[in-house]
Amino acid sequence: MTVLSDRINNLSESATIKMAKLGRELSAKGVDVISLSFGEPDFHTPEYIKTAAKLAMDQNYTYYTPVAGYPELRKAIANKLKTENGLDYDASQIVVSTGAKQAIANALLCLVNPGEEVIIPTPYWVSYSEVVKLTEGKSVFINTTVEQNFKITPEQLEAAITPKTKLFMFSSPCNPTGSVYSEEELAGLVKVFEKYPNIYILSDEIYEHINFVEKCVSIASFPSVKDRVVIINGFSKAYAMTGWRIGYSASNKEIASACDKLQGQITSGTCSITQRAGIAACEGGLESVYEMRAAFRKRRDIVYELLKNIDGIKVNLPEGAFYFFPDVTSFFGKSYEGKTYNDADELSIFLLEEAHVATVGGDSFGDPKSIRISYAASEEKLIEAMNRIKTALAKLK
Ligand code: PMP
Ligand code: GLU
Repeated sequence: MTVLSDRINNLSESATIKMAKLGRELSAKGVDVISLSFGEPDFHTPEYIKTAAKLAMDQNYTYYTPVAGYPELRKAIANKLKTENGLDYDASQIVVSTGAKQAIANALLCLVNPGEEVIIPTPYWVSYSEVVKLTEGKSVFINTTVEQNFKITPEQLEAAITPKTKLFMFSSPCNPTGSVYSEEELAGLVKVFEKYPNIYILSDEIYEHINFVEKCVSIASFPSVKDRVVIINGFSKAYAMTGWRIGYSASNKEIASACDKLQGQITSGTCSITQRAGIAACEGGLESVYEMRAAFRKRRDIVYELLKNIDGIKVNLPEGAFYFFPDVTSFFGKSYEGKTYNDADELSIFLLEEAHVATVGGDSFGDPKSIRISYAASEEKLIEAMNRIKTALAKLK
């Protein structure tokens, strides 16, 4: 038997990827599964971006690129941060990676020492706590509830800080809750960070354009903390480019150089053709992004109406991203055909087997009371899925 490292043995499989896999396996057997487990826009990548990629191949952009990305791309991202977010970053502060996922791993591995603490509000995106494990740091969770719209208060933040705290990491709009921190709410958190100058902040803004509040404010827009913020963003969600694998970080120059060095030993620069497409995405305006956002908003409203009318489900109205994270505790301990369902993960499997709808149990998001439903699917599929969920849940007695 191969003796694997403790590092990999201690790591959990990504729950989102696992449920997507289970859904696909069931589909392959001929079952009509509606997959609401994966956080992936169902739109195609806009044509002008694909055209740029085709051109890039013809122009022989097929060689290794600088590790942190083509200078033109880093500059285009710096311009985006200026024009869309009002933030000043030099191209040398941008590191382009193989997805936002790698940008997050880079930042954590460059900042966190074994034993140092990383504060993460729950619910959080599944990979956060797992990457902390790879750093041998310790995740410290701040729990939130659906009643507080899944957002932490400054008091909760301060209570979680210890002399070992190195980093605070969060996403806004949030995966899995869709919550968006307002400027005022961020200002409250910033006041706390001002008292603790050694704490860094990882701000995952990958859903910034999928928001229904008009404007998402970055915590980096507060000058007192900007130098300590690592912004994470990418093209997967805004431009429907999940398979292209491109994301980036914006940070102070020391962190950017560290990420560049780390990436140079692990993957080098991300795909050259993808990077040329990334330049086109940055320079092509936000029209297609806003079209997709309008579709997501309509779907959110449809699903909200259907979900809140399912007996036993407690749900809030998300302000961004494309997920619902309903509380399903009222079904715990209920049974169907001799089997009792005791937690959200079991309930998610029940919904897959009984309703043929794939969702993800909340445990891996740090919240075992809820399930995550992605509404990145067509309106017809969403309506059908909610009806199936309602029928299946009504069978639990
Ligand atoms: N952050 C969050 C909050 C996400 O939901 C995702 C989704 N995959 C990522 C980062 C990573 O995105 P990607 O690696 O596709 O750029
Ligand atoms: N981020 C998406 C999700 O949460 C994609 C899957 C993943 O990368 O984990 O479902």
